[in-house]
Amino acid sequence: MENEVISKNFIEQIIDEDLSEGHCSEVVTRFPPEPNGYLHIGHAKSILLNYGLAQKYNGRFNLRFDDTNPTKEKVEFVNSIIEDVKWLGANYEDRLFFASDYFDAMYEAAIKLIKKGKAYVCDLTPDEIREYRGTLTEPGKNSPYRDRSVEENLAMFEDMRAGKYEDGSKVLRAKIDMASPNINMRDPIIYRVAHMEHHNTKDKWCIYPMYDFAHPIEDAIEGITHSICTLEFEDHRPLYDWVVRELEYDKPPKQIEFSKLYLTNVVTGKRYIKKLVEEGIVDGWDDPRLVSISALRRRGFTPESIKMFVDLVGVTKSQGSVDYAMLEYCIREDLKLKKSRMMAVLDPIKLIIDNYEDDKVEYLEAENNQENEALGKRLIPFSKELYIEREDFMEEPPKKYFRLFPGNEVRLMHAYFVKCESFVKDENGNITEIHCTYDPETKSGTGFTGRKVKGTIHWVSAKHATKAEVRLYENLVDEEKGVYNEDGTMNINPNSLTVLKNCYVEPSFDDAKGGDSYQFVRNGYFCVDTKDSTKENLVFNRIVSLKSSFKI
Ligand code: ATP
Ligand code: MG
Repeated sequence: MENEVISKNFIEQIIDEDLSEGHCSEVVTRFPPEPNGYLHIGHAKSILLNYGLAQKYNGRFNLRFDDTNPTKEKVEFVNSIIEDVKWLGANYEDRLFFASDYFDAMYEAAIKLIKKGKAYVCDLTPDEIREYRGTLTEPGKNSPYRDRSVEENLAMFEDMRAGKYEDGSKVLRAKIDMASPNINMRDPIIYRVAHMEHHNTKDKWCIYPMYDFAHPIEDAIEGITHSICTLEFEDHRPLYDWVVRELEYDKPPKQIEFSKLYLTNVVTGKRYIKKLVEEGIVDGWDDPRLVSISALRRRGFTPESIKMFVDLVGVTKSQGSVDYAMLEYCIREDLKLKKSRMMAVLDPIKLIIDNYEDDKVEYLEAENNQENEALGKRLIPFSKELYIEREDFMEEPPKKYFRLFPGNEVRLMHAYFVKCESFVKDENGNITEIHCTYDPETKSGTGFTGRKVKGTIHWVSAKHATKAEVRLYENLVDEEKGVYNEDGTMNINPNSLTVLKNCYVEPSFDDAKGGDSYQFVRNGYFCVDTKDSTKENLVFNRIVSLKSSFKI
């Protein structure tokens, strides 16, 4: 198209330049999660960004676990991350890597630095190291161990590896510049002693590389051309570049930072999600009120909707926060034409058609989705006793209420006009039955034009309907108060989950399986819960209501 504006984000502009100036001849990206929790919507942005770039430039995308810190890492998280990355459609083919696979290479790299006089073993205690480091306004001081000879450093580093020192008693530091205005460059620690088992290398190592040293090596080994990370690493870039330069890699990777994705009034940090799980405020990492990827999947979000969302958000260097309503907009857009529009009554009240034959059943034809013929049609049983939504009847209606009230006529969706003749109340004044008459002339699809009604309501046939449980969600966070308090606690909305046990759905749901989703007319989009739903007891999660507050 002639007028199409091809706008490239700033990372694509950098890549274009690198390719045209010959800094690289291909594009290789990676997603490098630390396996210390489940992935969330922010990670989805990073995954789809990295994968998207590899696709766009016909390059490669790797999944690499940054498992250099054995304390917090678990195999459970490795598996969940793999599942999430696959579900999002980021295809890493056979390139699944672990940073721990490169521990030997990292050890060799450290020796190379020692031999170049660029690293030394330091005996200062952690407190002393902190003290010597200086502050943002004052330079640091050289460690008294800074000028150890190469031979002494080599021997001591070998002893560190051999387990001769206790945790914290010695570290290997890069020899850079204690007066650097960038604190990260003040002889950062690159290896520490830690007598810990690693989930992959078991007890092979009792020294572990620090992130800032390990990460550039991992990237270089894999031939990553563009190492894309979030803004908090901007100040670490000089160190990244230093490591790559001192280790003399042929094709040095380039670090590029972008801003993290935040959702307003939503808990995203792994640490905080973990806290909600551990305190039992939610029922696990995949509780549908969370925005971990497993929770979004369970709630009924699709990979396509998440892709649309991250594309809409875009890639920038400026920090901001996005409204959850935008995510809802994306799932509505994605499901609108793909899903059948079914009838389900969430808060049932009986409607009896007095002039309909007692045992008669009609199978009425309904289009599954009026905007998408390809979804076909289905037959819905209709009979004398129905359930409708309690809110679709009012004894004393306000103005502009066009649904059922005494004397008023409405259309039953896909069926007939019915007119309310009377209703029954129990001893507490609750309405228990609504009595109507129907007009056989008004059957849907027959082209009846005799008169019009202003309201259409949905229904299910009482004797054919299936009972179901429906879970409605609100924000987990109390939006009035904001997410976090100063003391690190969170403001939780006590009404974030409503469980309706007494709902009725059409018999067409008999084959519904966990993960299937539908529109329930007027009530929103719903997904069969993958954890708790059974054939005998269907459980639906509301993904999103039909109404939107978000305008694009
Ligand atoms: P969290 O801050 O939620 O604990 P993390 O940054 O510790 O996440 P990692 O496993 O270290 O999680 O991150 C893997 C990758 O995902 C990193 O490149 C990181 O920059 C990126 N990432 C993490 N959070 C976000 C976010 N909110 N938006 C975009 N990218 C993110
Ligand atoms: Mg992290």
